[in-house]
Amino acid sequence: MPQARPSTSSDAPRVDAGRRRWLGAAAALPLAGAATMPARAAVKTSARIVIAGSGLGGIAVASRLSRLLDGARITIVDRKEEHNYQPGYTLVATGVWPVDKVQDRNADFQPAGIEWVKDMVAAFDPAANAVVTAGGQRIGYDFLVVATGVHLDYAQIEGMDVGAIGRNGLASVYPSPQAAQATWAAMQAFAAKGGDAVMTLPATPLKCAGAPLKMTFMLRDRLLQAGTLDRSKVLFMSALGNVFGVKPVNDNVLQRWQQLGIAVETTHKLAAVDIGARRATFVTPEGEKVEQPYDFLHVVPPMRAPDAVKNSDLAWKEGPFAAGGWLEVDKSTLRHRRFPNVFGIGDINGTPRGKTAATVKKSAPIVAHNLAEVIAGRQPDQPFDGYTSCPLITREGSAMLIEFDYEGRLTPSLPMIEPLQDSYFAWLMKYRMLKPAYLAVLKGRV
Ligand SMILES: Cc1cc2nc3c(=O)[nH]c(=O)nc-3n(C[C@H](O)[C@H](O)[C@H](O)COP(=O)(O)OP(=O)(O)OC[C@H]3O[C@@H](n4cnc5c(N)ncnc54)[C@H](O)[C@@H]3O)c2cc1C
Repeated sequence: MPQARPSTSSDAPRVDAGRRRWLGAAAALPLAGAATMPARAAVKTSARIVIAGSGLGGIAVASRLSRLLDGARITIVDRKEEHNYQPGYTLVATGVWPVDKVQDRNADFQPAGIEWVKDMVAAFDPAANAVVTAGGQRIGYDFLVVATGVHLDYAQIEGMDVGAIGRNGLASVYPSPQAAQATWAAMQAFAAKGGDAVMTLPATPLKCAGAPLKMTFMLRDRLLQAGTLDRSKVLFMSALGNVFGVKPVNDNVLQRWQQLGIAVETTHKLAAVDIGARRATFVTPEGEKVEQPYDFLHVVPPMRAPDAVKNSDLAWKEGPFAAGGWLEVDKSTLRHRRFPNVFGIGDINGTPRGKTAATVKKSAPIVAHNLAEVIAGRQPDQPFDGYTSCPLITREGSAMLIEFDYEGRLTPSLPMIEPLQDSYFAWLMKYRMLKPAYLAVLKGRV
């Protein structure tokens, strides 16, 4: 297999002269999805602001607020000390990047002057303007930003054990850098022999809904490279009724998979897995149980809001986002619909679409600006359009840059990129340019 070990930035896939031109052009490009904000003098305030969550959204908003506000006391609450570049997980899990490229330290990104409480929020008490941590600390606030991301609900899959990823053909890119690395080990072992691969998709909202598709494209590519494709089958089992929520993208992927020989079922939800026996059980909408033996299984967990949000008054109580307990924000201002001193950023928001780092890139400046406006006694005046983006890898060295809004309209932001056309340029963005862009978002620079 040509890609026996992960490549690093120094031994990346070889770049020929034509590709070098693209690379030069790429460096000069504005970053896709950037938002421009009206410049204003810093707002003088002594407001206490609590930010729950120090992932991409929490830190990006903290960085912005620390510049937009003069005198505010900002506290971030999150126990997590390692910062993970999650968009790189698919590259680790398919043998393109080494794992250390997705591992940094949160301490390196927290803006100066903020307080960091290394604990989790156990309960939100928005009526009393306070959060309570797992350690029992009650922290009052004037304004709250909820940035807790999603909960990966592997517990809904009977027999699933995250600790077993990497062995017995069990794979899952989502939970951690270690799981991504172990997934690559499982994929390598599978590709060496070939056999039956089963790729799953639940029906809940997902962070980076393109990741399960990237894993499928790349698995097929690894089988091809290993020379075992002709003795293998790849079956994609979705519970969603389709494979992607944006129709033109869904149709394009299905057409590609038909040509690539990837089979698809769109009404099958993964209910249980017998890891030792390598047998998955799916249920159909009619309640029928379907047993599926496999040599390689990629599990995508159902996703919901973390308990602290789901069980609080901040969650949607009715409508399509209530079951997952997602944060009840206005989809345009990202301000809470019932608690006007609360805003949401990132994956936790109960909005149609918008669970990507690219979403945070475009919406963090809007959330910070709108919150600063509210603190200044004005109305939030910057709307968010739901920008969501995902470089959908189609094989090693090629990707499609998919960008869309709340309405599911394709919103290409780079003139030289056709949204549904795969290109080396889009691969290059994924492979080389998006992590620097991500770091710039954390620092509040784009
Ligand atoms: C496999 C994979 C591939 C992806 N690929 C892409 C891609 O190609 N492009 C793209 O744009 N995006 C991609 N993403 C999505 C992107 O990483 C997320 O959308 C982004 O990280 C969202 O930021 P966030 O701040 O909302 O959540 P996160 O970055 O996940 O941070 C949430 C933080 O909240 C903390 N937290 C949770 N509960 C609590 C609590 N009760 N109290 C305090 N803190 C809490 C957590 O510890 C965590 O630090 C991918 C994600 C994955 C997993």
